[in-house]
Amino acid sequence: MLSKILPFGARDLAIDLGTANTIVFAAGRGIVVDEPSIVAINTANEKTEAVGHDARAMLGRTPASITTIRPMRDGVIADFDAAERMLTSFIRKAQGPYTFRRTRVVIGIPSGTTQVERRAVIDSAYRAKAGQVHLVEEGIAAAIGAGLPVTEARGSMVVDIGGGTTDIAVVALGGMVYDRSVRVAGHHMDEAIIQYMRRRHGLLIGERTAEQVKIEIGSATESVEQLNMEVRGRCLREGRPRVVQIKDTEVREALAEPLKVICGSVREALDGIPPEIAADIFDNGIVVTGGGALLRGIDERLRTETGVPVAVADDPLTSVVRGVGRMLEDLPLLKRVAAAA
Ligand code: ADP
Ligand code: MG
Repeated sequence: MLSKILPFGARDLAIDLGTANTIVFAAGRGIVVDEPSIVAINTANEKTEAVGHDARAMLGRTPASITTIRPMRDGVIADFDAAERMLTSFIRKAQGPYTFRRTRVVIGIPSGTTQVERRAVIDSAYRAKAGQVHLVEEGIAAAIGAGLPVTEARGSMVVDIGGGTTDIAVVALGGMVYDRSVRVAGHHMDEAIIQYMRRRHGLLIGERTAEQVKIEIGSATESVEQLNMEVRGRCLREGRPRVVQIKDTEVREALAEPLKVICGSVREALDGIPPEIAADIFDNGIVVTGGGALLRGIDERLRTETGVPVAVADDPLTSVVRGVGRMLEDLPLLKRVAAAA
Protein backbone atom coordinates (compact mmCIF):
# COMPACT_ATOMS: atom_id res chain seq x y z
CA MET A 1 0.00 0.00 0.00
CA LEU A 2 2.79 2.34 0.92
CA SER A 3 4.17 1.86 -2.55
CA LYS A 4 1.37 4.10 -3.82
CA ILE A 5 2.24 7.10 -1.72
CA LEU A 6 6.02 6.81 -1.80
CA PRO A 7 7.59 8.74 -4.66
CA PHE A 8 9.03 6.75 -7.51
CA GLY A 9 12.42 5.30 -6.64
CA ALA A 10 11.89 5.72 -2.91
CA ARG A 11 13.02 2.17 -2.28
CA ASP A 12 16.38 2.69 -3.91
CA LEU A 13 19.38 2.31 -1.67
CA ALA A 14 22.89 3.74 -1.58
CA ILE A 15 25.42 1.75 0.44
CA ASP A 16 28.86 2.62 1.78
CA LEU A 17 30.51 -0.70 2.49
CA GLY A 18 33.29 0.49 4.77
CA THR A 19 35.94 -1.39 6.72
CA ALA A 20 34.71 0.14 9.97
CA ASN A 21 31.12 1.12 9.26
CA THR A 22 28.43 0.27 6.76
CA ILE A 23 25.95 3.04 6.06
CA VAL A 24 22.78 2.75 4.00
CA PHE A 25 20.94 5.73 2.57
CA ALA A 26 17.40 5.30 1.23
CA ALA A 27 16.12 7.69 -1.42
CA GLY A 28 13.66 10.09 0.16
CA ARG A 29 14.23 8.69 3.64
CA GLY A 30 17.85 9.53 4.41
CA ILE A 31 20.25 7.33 6.38
CA VAL A 32 18.41 4.21 7.51
CA VAL A 33 21.34 2.00 8.61
CA ASP A 34 24.59 3.12 10.22
CA GLU A 35 26.34 0.23 11.92
CA PRO A 36 29.79 -1.22 12.46
CA SER A 37 30.90 -3.66 9.72
CA ILE A 38 31.02 -6.64 12.06
CA VAL A 39 29.32 -10.02 11.98
CA ALA A 40 29.12 -12.53 14.82
CA ILE A 41 28.81 -16.13 13.67
CA ASN A 42 28.02 -19.14 15.79
CA THR A 43 30.58 -21.72 14.73
CA ALA A 44 28.58 -24.59 16.22
CA ASN A 45 25.61 -24.20 13.86
CA GLU A 46 26.96 -21.70 11.28
CA LYS A 47 24.14 -19.28 12.11
CA THR A 48 24.55 -15.50 12.07
CA GLU A 49 24.37 -14.58 15.72
CA ALA A 50 24.45 -10.79 15.35
CA VAL A 51 25.35 -8.05 12.88
CA GLY A 52 26.43 -4.44 13.33
CA HIS A 53 26.05 -2.80 16.75
CA ASP A 54 24.97 -6.05 18.37
CA ALA A 55 28.00 -7.87 16.99
CA ARG A 56 30.30 -5.06 18.07
CA ALA A 57 29.06 -5.30 21.64
CA MET A 58 30.29 -8.89 21.57
CA LEU A 59 33.85 -7.92 20.50
CA GLY A 60 36.36 -9.30 22.98
CA ARG A 61 33.59 -10.91 25.01
CA THR A 62 32.50 -13.85 22.88
CA PRO A 63 32.26 -17.42 24.15
CA ALA A 64 34.31 -20.02 22.28
CA SER A 65 31.41 -20.93 19.99
CA ILE A 66 30.99 -17.41 18.58
CA THR A 67 33.48 -15.57 16.39
CA THR A 68 33.25 -11.92 15.51
CA ILE A 69 34.42 -11.09 12.01
CA ARG A 70 35.14 -7.85 10.21
CA PRO A 71 34.33 -8.94 6.64
CA MET A 72 36.09 -5.90 5.16
CA ARG A 73 39.78 -5.60 5.92
CA ASP A 74 42.36 -3.28 4.44
CA GLY A 75 39.77 -2.04 1.97
CA VAL A 76 39.13 -5.45 0.46
CA ILE A 77 36.65 -8.20 1.26
CA ALA A 78 38.54 -10.48 3.60
CA ASP A 79 35.64 -12.84 4.27
CA PHE A 80 33.14 -13.29 1.45
CA ASP A 81 30.66 -15.33 3.45
CA ALA A 82 30.56 -12.83 6.32
CA ALA A 83 30.34 -9.91 3.89
CA GLU A 84 27.30 -11.45 2.25
CA ARG A 85 25.61 -12.08 5.59
CA MET A 86 26.22 -8.48 6.57
CA LEU A 87 25.05 -6.99 3.30
CA THR A 88 21.92 -9.14 3.28
CA SER A 89 21.06 -8.18 6.81
CA PHE A 90 21.55 -4.46 6.22
CA ILE A 91 19.66 -4.41 2.92
CA ARG A 92 16.71 -6.20 4.56
CA LYS A 93 16.78 -3.76 7.44
CA ALA A 94 16.93 -0.79 5.09
CA GLN A 95 14.10 -2.09 2.91
CA GLY A 96 11.88 -2.58 5.93
CA PRO A 97 8.41 -3.43 4.71
CA TYR A 98 9.15 -2.37 1.13
CA THR A 99 10.64 -5.62 -0.07
CA PHE A 100 7.78 -6.34 -2.45
CA ARG A 101 9.18 -3.93 -5.00
CA ARG A 102 12.47 -4.32 -6.80
CA THR A 103 15.11 -2.03 -5.36
CA ARG A 104 17.95 -0.33 -7.17
CA VAL A 105 21.10 -0.54 -5.11
CA VAL A 106 24.25 1.52 -5.67
CA ILE A 107 27.24 0.42 -3.63
CA GLY A 108 30.44 2.35 -3.00
CA ILE A 109 33.44 0.05 -3.06
CA PRO A 110 37.13 0.67 -2.47
CA SER A 111 38.96 1.13 -5.76
CA GLY A 112 41.48 -1.53 -4.77
CA THR A 113 38.90 -4.33 -4.91
CA THR A 114 39.43 -7.03 -7.49
CA GLN A 115 36.98 -8.15 -10.13
CA VAL A 116 36.18 -11.26 -8.09
CA GLU A 117 35.39 -9.15 -5.04
CA ARG A 118 33.22 -6.79 -7.06
CA ARG A 119 31.32 -9.72 -8.49
CA ALA A 120 30.82 -11.09 -4.97
CA VAL A 121 29.39 -7.78 -3.76
CA ILE A 122 27.03 -7.64 -6.72
CA ASP A 123 25.90 -11.25 -6.24
CA SER A 124 25.31 -10.69 -2.53
CA ALA A 125 23.17 -7.67 -3.26
CA TYR A 126 21.11 -9.64 -5.81
CA ARG A 127 20.66 -12.46 -3.32
CA ALA A 128 19.44 -9.85 -0.85
CA LYS A 129 16.66 -9.19 -3.42
CA ALA A 130 18.07 -6.09 -5.05
CA GLY A 131 16.55 -5.53 -8.50
CA GLN A 132 19.45 -3.67 -10.03
CA VAL A 133 22.97 -3.28 -8.69
CA HIS A 134 25.62 -0.70 -9.59
CA LEU A 135 29.05 -0.15 -8.13
CA VAL A 136 30.86 3.16 -7.82
CA GLU A 137 34.33 3.87 -6.58
CA GLU A 138 34.42 5.34 -3.11
CA GLY A 139 36.90 8.06 -4.02
CA ILE A 140 34.50 9.66 -6.47
CA ALA A 141 31.57 9.12 -4.12
CA ALA A 142 33.48 10.78 -1.26
CA ALA A 143 34.33 13.74 -3.49
CA ILE A 144 30.69 14.13 -4.57
CA GLY A 145 29.51 13.76 -0.98
CA ALA A 146 31.97 16.42 0.12
CA GLY A 147 30.51 18.78 -2.47
CA LEU A 148 33.51 18.89 -4.81
CA PRO A 149 33.03 19.69 -8.51
CA VAL A 150 33.96 16.18 -9.75
CA THR A 151 32.70 16.54 -13.30
CA GLU A 152 34.50 19.83 -13.97
CA ALA A 153 37.87 20.13 -15.67
CA ARG A 154 39.32 21.20 -12.33
CA GLY A 155 41.13 18.63 -10.16
CA SER A 156 39.91 17.95 -6.61
CA MET A 157 41.67 15.91 -3.93
CA VAL A 158 39.90 13.92 -1.24
CA VAL A 159 41.72 12.13 1.55
CA ASP A 160 39.40 9.57 3.14
CA ILE A 161 40.77 8.28 6.46
CA GLY A 162 38.62 5.27 7.26
CA GLY A 163 39.03 2.25 9.52
CA GLY A 164 41.32 0.00 7.47
CA THR A 165 42.61 2.28 4.73
CA THR A 166 43.35 5.87 3.92
CA ASP A 167 42.27 6.52 0.36
CA ILE A 168 43.64 9.41 -1.57
CA ALA A 169 41.74 10.29 -4.72
CA VAL A 170 42.14 13.05 -7.23
CA VAL A 171 39.16 13.45 -9.51
CA ALA A 172 38.55 15.57 -12.57
CA LEU A 173 36.02 15.31 -15.39
CA GLY A 174 34.15 12.54 -13.58
CA GLY A 175 37.12 10.19 -13.47
CA MET A 176 39.98 9.33 -11.16
CA VAL A 177 43.23 11.01 -12.07
CA TYR A 178 45.08 9.55 -9.13
CA ASP A 179 44.03 6.95 -6.65
CA ARG A 180 46.05 5.37 -3.90
CA SER A 181 44.97 3.23 -0.98
CA VAL A 182 47.26 3.02 2.03
CA ARG A 183 46.67 0.35 4.61
CA VAL A 184 47.05 2.68 7.56
CA ALA A 185 43.99 4.34 9.10
CA GLY A 186 41.78 4.34 12.19
CA HIS A 187 42.26 0.70 13.22
CA HIS A 188 46.03 1.12 13.06
CA MET A 189 45.78 4.14 15.31
CA ASP A 190 43.85 2.00 17.81
CA GLU A 191 46.48 -0.72 17.53
CA ALA A 192 49.25 1.84 18.11
CA ILE A 193 47.50 2.94 21.29
CA ILE A 194 47.22 -0.68 22.46
CA GLN A 195 50.97 -1.15 21.90
CA TYR A 196 51.80 2.11 23.63
CA MET A 197 49.75 1.25 26.74
CA ARG A 198 51.40 -2.13 26.94
CA ARG A 199 54.92 -0.77 26.51
CA ARG A 200 54.67 2.37 28.63
CA HIS A 201 52.18 1.41 31.28
CA GLY A 202 52.25 -2.37 31.30
CA LEU A 203 48.50 -2.24 30.71
CA LEU A 204 46.58 -4.55 28.41
CA ILE A 205 43.62 -2.85 26.78
CA GLY A 206 41.14 -3.98 24.12
CA GLU A 207 40.30 -2.55 20.72
CA ARG A 208 37.22 -0.72 21.92
CA THR A 209 39.03 0.98 24.78
CA ALA A 210 41.85 2.04 22.47
CA GLU A 211 39.36 3.59 20.05
CA GLN A 212 37.72 5.44 22.92
CA VAL A 213 41.09 6.87 23.97
CA LYS A 214 41.73 8.03 20.40
CA ILE A 215 38.32 9.69 20.09
CA GLU A 216 38.34 11.29 23.54
CA ILE A 217 41.87 12.64 23.80
CA GLY A 218 43.65 11.79 20.54
CA SER A 219 45.15 14.53 18.36
CA ALA A 220 47.43 15.06 15.39
CA THR A 221 48.95 18.38 16.48
CA GLU A 222 49.77 20.06 19.73
CA SER A 223 46.67 21.83 20.98
CA VAL A 224 46.11 24.45 23.62
CA GLU A 225 43.73 22.33 25.62
CA GLN A 226 45.26 19.59 27.72
CA LEU A 227 43.24 16.43 27.88
CA ASN A 228 43.40 13.54 30.34
CA MET A 229 41.64 10.27 30.60
CA GLU A 230 41.39 7.29 32.90
CA VAL A 231 42.06 4.07 31.03
CA ARG A 232 40.96 0.72 32.39
CA GLY A 233 42.67 -2.50 31.48
CA ARG A 234 44.51 -5.48 32.85
CA CYS A 235 47.89 -5.10 34.51
CA LEU A 236 50.41 -7.16 32.55
CA ARG A 237 52.49 -7.96 35.63
CA GLU A 238 49.80 -8.76 38.18
CA GLY A 239 47.03 -9.83 35.87
CA ARG A 240 44.53 -7.71 37.78
CA PRO A 241 42.28 -4.88 36.55
CA ARG A 242 44.00 -1.51 36.84
CA VAL A 243 43.29 2.15 36.03
CA VAL A 244 45.92 4.39 34.45
CA GLN A 245 45.75 8.16 33.89
CA ILE A 246 47.01 9.24 30.50
CA LYS A 247 47.51 12.59 28.77
CA ASP A 248 46.91 13.81 25.23
CA THR A 249 50.68 14.15 24.70
CA GLU A 250 51.06 10.42 25.26
CA VAL A 251 48.36 9.57 22.76
CA ARG A 252 50.00 11.86 20.23
CA GLU A 253 53.24 10.00 20.76
CA ALA A 254 51.40 6.71 20.25
CA LEU A 255 49.82 8.01 17.02
CA ALA A 256 53.07 9.41 15.61
CA GLU A 257 53.82 6.50 13.30
CA PRO A 258 50.42 6.00 11.66
CA LEU A 259 50.08 9.78 11.20
CA LYS A 260 53.50 9.97 9.63
CA VAL A 261 52.51 7.33 7.07
CA ILE A 262 49.21 9.09 6.28
CA CYS A 263 50.85 12.52 5.84
CA GLY A 264 53.65 10.99 3.77
CA SER A 265 51.14 9.42 1.39
CA VAL A 266 49.37 12.71 0.85
CA ARG A 267 52.70 14.40 0.06
CA GLU A 268 53.51 11.58 -2.34
CA ALA A 269 50.15 12.05 -4.05
CA LEU A 270 50.82 15.76 -4.55
CA ASP A 271 54.15 14.86 -6.11
CA GLY A 272 52.66 12.16 -8.31
CA ILE A 273 49.91 14.05 -10.12
CA PRO A 274 50.21 16.07 -13.34
CA PRO A 275 51.35 19.67 -12.71
CA GLU A 276 48.14 21.32 -13.93
CA ILE A 277 46.11 19.30 -11.50
CA ALA A 278 48.59 19.88 -8.68
CA ALA A 279 48.14 23.60 -9.34
CA ASP A 280 44.33 23.20 -8.99
CA ILE A 281 44.81 21.50 -5.67
CA PHE A 282 47.22 24.10 -4.39
CA ASP A 283 44.49 26.66 -5.16
CA ASN A 284 41.43 24.75 -3.99
CA GLY A 285 42.88 22.68 -1.20
CA ILE A 286 42.37 19.14 0.04
CA VAL A 287 39.18 17.85 1.64
CA VAL A 288 39.51 15.25 4.39
CA THR A 289 36.66 12.78 4.96
CA GLY A 290 36.09 9.49 6.78
CA GLY A 291 36.04 9.00 10.54
CA GLY A 292 39.74 9.86 10.79
CA ALA A 293 38.91 13.40 9.65
CA LEU A 294 37.43 13.85 13.13
CA LEU A 295 40.80 13.40 14.81
CA ARG A 296 41.67 16.71 16.50
CA GLY A 297 44.07 18.80 14.46
CA ILE A 298 44.30 16.47 11.45
CA ASP A 299 43.57 19.37 9.10
CA GLU A 300 46.25 21.56 10.67
CA ARG A 301 48.74 18.73 10.57
CA LEU A 302 48.14 18.03 6.86
CA ARG A 303 48.30 21.76 6.12
CA THR A 304 51.68 22.06 7.81
CA GLU A 305 53.07 18.96 6.12
CA THR A 306 51.89 19.76 2.60
CA GLY A 307 51.65 23.53 2.43
CA VAL A 308 48.21 23.14 0.82
CA PRO A 309 44.94 24.42 2.32
CA VAL A 310 43.01 21.59 4.04
CA ALA A 311 39.35 21.43 5.05
CA VAL A 312 37.42 18.74 6.90
CA ALA A 313 34.23 17.72 5.09
CA ASP A 314 30.91 18.36 6.79
CA ASP A 315 29.84 15.19 8.58
CA PRO A 316 32.86 13.25 7.25
CA LEU A 317 31.57 9.82 8.34
CA THR A 318 28.72 10.06 5.82
CA SER A 319 30.45 11.72 2.84
CA VAL A 320 30.70 8.51 0.84
CA VAL A 321 27.12 7.38 1.39
CA ARG A 322 25.76 10.84 0.63
CA GLY A 323 27.83 10.86 -2.55
CA VAL A 324 26.48 7.46 -3.57
CA GLY A 325 23.00 8.69 -2.62
CA ARG A 326 23.30 11.58 -5.05
CA MET A 327 23.71 9.02 -7.83
CA LEU A 328 20.32 7.49 -7.03
CA GLU A 329 18.79 10.78 -8.11
CA ASP A 330 21.18 11.59 -10.92
CA LEU A 331 21.31 8.68 -13.34
CA PRO A 332 23.48 10.44 -15.91
CA LEU A 333 26.03 11.04 -13.17
CA LEU A 334 25.79 7.39 -12.10
CA LYS A 335 26.37 6.26 -15.70
CA ARG A 336 29.35 8.54 -15.95
CA VAL A 337 31.11 7.35 -12.81
CA ALA A 338 29.92 3.74 -12.41
CA ALA A 339 32.76 1.33 -11.82
CA ALA A 340 33.44 -1.55 -14.16
CA ALA A 341 32.57 -4.88 -12.56
P1 ADP B 1 35.30 3.03 6.90
O1 ADP B 1 34.88 3.83 5.72
O2 ADP B 1 36.56 2.27 6.69
O3 ADP B 1 34.21 2.15 7.40
P2 ADP B 1 34.85 5.33 8.58
O4 ADP B 1 34.96 6.46 7.64
O5 ADP B 1 33.49 4.95 9.01
O6 ADP B 1 35.65 4.07 8.06
O7 ADP B 1 35.74 5.74 9.84
C1 ADP B 1 35.91 4.85 10.90
C2 ADP B 1 37.15 5.19 11.65
O8 ADP B 1 37.08 6.54 12.13
C3 ADP B 1 37.32 4.30 12.86
O9 ADP B 1 38.65 3.84 12.94
C4 ADP B 1 37.01 5.24 14.02
O10 ADP B 1 37.71 4.90 15.19
C5 ADP B 1 37.47 6.57 13.48
N1 ADP B 1 36.85 7.70 14.16
C6 ADP B 1 35.53 7.92 14.38
N2 ADP B 1 35.36 9.05 15.10
C7 ADP B 1 36.60 9.56 15.34
C8 ADP B 1 37.10 10.70 16.05
N3 ADP B 1 36.27 11.57 16.66
N4 ADP B 1 38.44 10.88 16.12
C9 ADP B 1 39.27 10.01 15.51
N5 ADP B 1 38.87 8.92 14.83
C10 ADP B 1 37.56 8.69 14.74
MG1 MG C 1 34.86 4.74 4.08
